[in-house]
Amino acid sequence: MKRNFLRGLLPASLAICLTSSAFAQTTTAEKPIPVDKRYENEMKALAKNAAVKQAFKVIMDLEPQTHQDLITLTEIPAPPFKEEVRGRKYAEMLRAAGADSVWTDAVGNVLSLRKGKNSQKTVVMEAHLDTVFPEGTDVKVRQNGDTLRAPGIADDTRGLAMVLQVLKTLEKTGIETEATVLFIGTVGEEGLGDLRGVKHLFSENGPKNIDSYIAVDGTGLGTVANRGLGSHRYRITFKGPGGHSSGAFGLVNPHNALGRAIHYFAVDADKYTKEGIRATYNVGVIGGGTSVNSIPFESWMEVDMRSESPERVAGLDKLLQAAVQRALQEENQMKRLGPDLKVDVKLIGDRPAGGMEPTVALAQRALAATRHLGTEPTLRVGSTNSNIPFSKGVPAVTIGSGGSGGGAHALEEWFVPKNTYLGTQRALLLLLAEAGIAKGKK
Ligand SMILES: [Zn+2]
Repeated sequence: MKRNFLRGLLPASLAICLTSSAFAQTTTAEKPIPVDKRYENEMKALAKNAAVKQAFKVIMDLEPQTHQDLITLTEIPAPPFKEEVRGRKYAEMLRAAGADSVWTDAVGNVLSLRKGKNSQKTVVMEAHLDTVFPEGTDVKVRQNGDTLRAPGIADDTRGLAMVLQVLKTLEKTGIETEATVLFIGTVGEEGLGDLRGVKHLFSENGPKNIDSYIAVDGTGLGTVANRGLGSHRYRITFKGPGGHSSGAFGLVNPHNALGRAIHYFAVDADKYTKEGIRATYNVGVIGGGTSVNSIPFESWMEVDMRSESPERVAGLDKLLQAAVQRALQEENQMKRLGPDLKVDVKLIGDRPAGGMEPTVALAQRALAATRHLGTEPTLRVGSTNSNIPFSKGVPAVTIGSGGSGGGAHALEEWFVPKNTYLGTQRALLLLLAEAGIAKGKK
């Protein structure tokens, strides 16, 4: 996920985020979000609990080690679809922290289970292993004053280090929970990973019965994402025989068709998105062709469309399909010789939209925990692993991991580990409220 770097430059209503997986926009005015007394009291009672007080101290003691864990993990590259080396290290760390069992599933997610006293309920707390950076990217952490710089350090390696710290804290204090807790490092959150890790967790091959899902993604203390932006992404390729620009003149030209498709799509999508629930579209990359005097044999584009409303994403999708077919037909009508132009339409990203009312217990607990630690929470819409539980009707939130960071998805990504203990304490409070503290020690 990426912090909203445009916030502050634009009015809140216009603030949009341009990245693939992000807290995309502020959705509430700056007035306080109501939290039911019940959950405020629950937080107060938790914070007074002797074991929780002890746990807060343990978190402080673990800060230097967590800092080191962050650097160790950041310096293990985790490019898209190549998370296994970092995953192995993370599994080793979870095992050393004392989880009951640790394993890697079929897609590469690293799971560790901490058994609850009443295993009817299962709560997940996770961060994602993958970064957006390709193989060969220099991931050495550079420190300048308080600032740490390295690709992926904040999004989401800090999340991994914090999730590990929560597990260590529970083990060191011997706090037992009612619910079983799964601490997970997921694969494939970013970009073309297309949430494949979390999709697997909620498939029939995943752990059964996840009742509640806490995703830790990005930094900061105030945000609680309770809704997910849906998106469809396509790679569309027009294909013809290709040939000499003069000698083979009259063959279908894939570039002409692509140009038409973009034009028809943009004209219709512009109209469509001017009204109704916010929906966006973007032709992000185009390519193809070999030289100025060759008729190209292919022409392709990658297109992204998003909305909080699944119907709106479907509406944009329909406009794109229609524009592509119209362009194909028109180019074929114009050809003077040779075979027909063909088109290949490939769905390369499908993130379902969805969300959870802020009145649901998990959201209320996230808000109450944030406020309890002195930060005024804001509700957000994001595009994170929580999209999948949202779309299945499973309560989920995405929270930040404390400290502050920026430049996500850029080589200059940075993280300032200031008061990071607050991020861990918030996550612990939320987890304990959701999982319940069992009586007696482990
Ligand atoms: Zn992320």
